[in-house]
Amino acid sequence: MDNDLPCSCDVPTLQTIENAVRQWRKEWESESAWNEAFDDELGRARIEGEHATTTFLDECAQCIIDGKELLESIHDVVRTHCPYCREGLKYDGILLYDLLVCVVSQVKFFEVKLDTGCN
Ligand SMILES: [Zn+2]
Repeated sequence: MDNDLPCSCDVPTLQTIENAVRQWRKEWESESAWNEAFDDELGRARIEGEHATTTFLDECAQCIIDGKELLESIHDVVRTHCPYCREGLKYDGILLYDLLVCVVSQVKFFEVKLDTGCN
């Protein structure tokens, strides 16, 4: 899609959000490996000590907060009333779906992890 859309919306584009999601998400390969990756990192932090453990868990908590902000941004993009932005979304349906699945599943994962059995 070209970048000179005739609108002056100040909402971020899905492509902008996609970049943000890439930086936000954990590089933990497939979802089935997350549990193990989480336990590995937590285990390493625990060996390092209490400070490292707290830091790791704080990072996970921040990950949830940032993930929810990303979801808010996606929400803002989707509910736009601008006809040009809406038109653009038609072609970005799959990207939109991928972003939602990616962010929601990782946010939920951390929410469950932080609620249960970390202590
Ligand atoms: Zn627009």
